[in-house]
Amino acid sequence: MEANRCPMCGAIVPTGRARCRDAFDEVCAREYSDPGFGAVHLLTVDAYALQHSEEHGPRSNAFHLARLGRLIERGEDAAIGRRPPRAVGKAEEARYRRLPELDPPAFRGTLTIADVHGAGDPEEHARRVLAWARSVWEAYRPHHEWARGSVSSGY
Ligand SMILES: [Zn+2]
Repeated sequence: MEANRCPMCGAIVPTGRARCRDAFDEVCAREYSDPGFGAVHLLTVDAYALQHSEEHGPRSNAFHLARLGRLIERGEDAAIGRRPPRAVGKAEEARYRRLPELDPPAFRGTLTIADVHGAGDPEEHARRVLAWARSVWEAYRPHHEWARGSVSSGY
Protein backbone atom coordinates (compact mmCIF):
# COMPACT_ATOMS: atom_id res chain seq x y z
CA MET A 1 0.00 0.00 0.00
CA GLU A 2 1.32 3.45 -0.87
CA ALA A 3 1.97 5.92 1.87
CA ASN A 4 -1.05 8.09 2.44
CA ARG A 5 0.02 11.68 3.06
CA CYS A 6 -2.37 14.13 4.69
CA PRO A 7 -2.89 17.19 2.44
CA MET A 8 -3.34 19.46 5.47
CA CYS A 9 -0.64 18.60 8.02
CA GLY A 10 1.69 16.56 5.80
CA ALA A 11 1.66 13.47 8.06
CA ILE A 12 2.06 9.99 6.71
CA VAL A 13 -1.29 8.68 7.95
CA PRO A 14 -0.72 5.69 10.30
CA THR A 15 -1.17 2.32 8.59
CA GLY A 16 -4.75 1.10 8.38
CA ARG A 17 -6.30 4.55 8.88
CA ALA A 18 -7.92 6.41 5.99
CA ARG A 19 -6.93 9.86 7.18
CA CYS A 20 -5.48 11.82 10.09
CA ARG A 21 -8.92 12.28 11.58
CA ASP A 22 -9.10 8.54 12.34
CA ALA A 23 -5.80 8.64 14.24
CA PHE A 24 -6.95 11.80 16.05
CA ASP A 25 -10.23 10.11 17.06
CA GLU A 26 -8.28 7.15 18.48
CA VAL A 27 -5.99 9.45 20.45
CA CYS A 28 -8.99 11.37 21.82
CA ALA A 29 -10.76 8.15 22.80
CA ARG A 30 -7.68 7.18 24.78
CA GLU A 31 -7.50 10.60 26.43
CA TYR A 32 -11.15 10.33 27.43
CA SER A 33 -10.83 6.82 28.83
CA ASP A 34 -7.60 7.36 30.82
CA PRO A 35 -7.08 10.56 32.86
CA GLY A 36 -3.30 10.05 32.60
CA PHE A 37 -3.56 10.47 28.86
CA GLY A 38 -6.30 13.08 29.21
CA ALA A 39 -4.00 15.46 31.09
CA VAL A 40 -2.84 16.98 27.77
CA HIS A 41 -6.16 16.78 25.91
CA LEU A 42 -6.56 20.49 25.13
CA LEU A 43 -3.08 20.58 23.57
CA THR A 44 -4.07 17.64 21.37
CA VAL A 45 -7.27 19.36 20.25
CA ASP A 46 -5.60 22.71 19.54
CA ALA A 47 -2.61 21.25 17.70
CA TYR A 48 -4.83 19.04 15.57
CA ALA A 49 -7.33 21.80 14.75
CA LEU A 50 -4.58 24.27 13.80
CA GLN A 51 -3.00 21.73 11.45
CA HIS A 52 -6.38 20.89 9.87
CA SER A 53 -8.08 24.26 9.71
CA GLU A 54 -9.89 23.31 6.48
CA GLU A 55 -11.93 20.84 8.57
CA HIS A 56 -13.08 23.59 10.93
CA GLY A 57 -14.83 26.93 10.75
CA PRO A 58 -13.06 30.12 9.59
CA ARG A 59 -12.56 31.40 13.14
CA SER A 60 -11.26 28.18 14.60
CA ASN A 61 -7.60 29.14 14.02
CA ALA A 62 -7.99 32.19 16.22
CA PHE A 63 -9.83 30.27 18.94
CA HIS A 64 -7.34 27.39 19.06
CA LEU A 65 -4.24 29.58 18.68
CA ALA A 66 -5.29 31.86 21.55
CA ARG A 67 -5.84 28.84 23.79
CA LEU A 68 -2.65 27.12 22.66
CA GLY A 69 -0.75 30.29 23.56
CA ARG A 70 -2.22 30.22 27.05
CA LEU A 71 -1.42 26.53 27.49
CA ILE A 72 2.19 26.80 26.23
CA GLU A 73 3.25 30.23 27.39
CA ARG A 74 1.25 30.49 30.60
CA GLY A 75 1.18 26.83 31.53
CA GLU A 76 -2.61 26.67 31.90
CA ASP A 77 -4.15 23.28 32.65
CA ALA A 78 -4.57 21.19 29.47
CA ALA A 79 -6.65 18.43 31.10
CA ILE A 80 -10.12 17.51 29.91
CA GLY A 81 -12.39 19.92 31.71
CA ARG A 82 -15.99 19.92 32.75
CA ARG A 83 -18.42 21.70 30.49
CA PRO A 84 -18.74 25.36 31.48
CA PRO A 85 -21.98 26.62 33.01
CA ARG A 86 -24.56 27.63 30.41
CA ALA A 87 -24.09 31.40 30.86
CA VAL A 88 -20.33 31.09 30.42
CA GLY A 89 -20.87 28.95 27.33
CA LYS A 90 -23.15 31.61 25.82
CA ALA A 91 -20.62 34.38 26.48
CA GLU A 92 -17.91 32.26 24.86
CA GLU A 93 -20.06 31.75 21.77
CA ALA A 94 -20.53 35.49 21.42
CA ARG A 95 -16.79 36.07 21.73
CA TYR A 96 -16.12 33.32 19.21
CA ARG A 97 -18.26 35.09 16.61
CA ARG A 98 -16.08 38.21 16.96
CA LEU A 99 -12.80 36.35 16.40
CA PRO A 100 -10.75 37.22 13.30
CA GLU A 101 -10.12 34.75 10.50
CA LEU A 102 -6.41 33.89 10.66
CA ASP A 103 -4.86 32.34 7.57
CA PRO A 104 -3.07 29.09 8.37
CA PRO A 105 0.65 28.98 7.49
CA ALA A 106 1.68 26.88 4.46
CA PHE A 107 3.92 24.78 6.74
CA ARG A 108 2.08 23.78 9.90
CA GLY A 109 4.75 22.17 12.07
CA THR A 110 7.48 19.52 12.07
CA LEU A 111 5.40 17.04 14.10
CA THR A 112 1.90 15.68 13.51
CA ILE A 113 -0.74 13.37 14.97
CA ALA A 114 1.27 10.51 13.43
CA ASP A 115 4.10 11.29 15.88
CA VAL A 116 1.71 11.23 18.83
CA HIS A 117 -0.45 8.23 17.95
CA GLY A 118 0.51 5.02 19.78
CA ALA A 119 2.48 6.32 22.79
CA GLY A 120 3.16 3.57 25.34
CA ASP A 121 2.21 5.34 28.58
CA PRO A 122 0.87 8.69 29.83
CA GLU A 123 4.34 10.19 30.34
CA GLU A 124 5.43 9.35 26.82
CA HIS A 125 2.09 10.56 25.48
CA ALA A 126 2.43 13.91 27.31
CA ARG A 127 6.00 14.37 26.01
CA ARG A 128 4.93 13.67 22.44
CA VAL A 129 1.85 15.89 22.59
CA LEU A 130 3.79 18.79 24.10
CA ALA A 131 6.50 18.57 21.40
CA TRP A 132 3.80 18.41 18.72
CA ALA A 133 1.91 21.37 20.18
CA ARG A 134 5.12 23.43 20.41
CA SER A 135 5.91 22.71 16.75
CA VAL A 136 2.44 23.91 15.74
CA TRP A 137 2.75 27.02 17.93
CA GLU A 138 6.10 27.78 16.21
CA ALA A 139 4.59 27.30 12.75
CA TYR A 140 1.95 29.91 13.60
CA ARG A 141 4.61 32.49 14.56
CA PRO A 142 3.17 35.16 12.18
CA HIS A 143 0.06 35.17 14.38
CA HIS A 144 1.79 35.14 17.80
CA GLU A 145 1.36 38.85 18.28
CA TRP A 146 -2.38 38.57 17.73
CA ALA A 147 -2.61 35.50 20.00
CA ARG A 148 -0.69 37.17 22.85
CA GLY A 149 -2.79 40.31 22.53
CA SER A 150 -5.97 38.27 22.68
CA VAL A 151 -4.73 36.63 25.89
CA SER A 152 -4.05 39.94 27.61
CA SER A 153 -7.43 41.24 26.48
CA GLY A 154 -9.02 38.31 28.29
CA TYR A 155 -10.00 35.98 25.52
ZN1 LIG B 1 -3.27 15.61 8.83
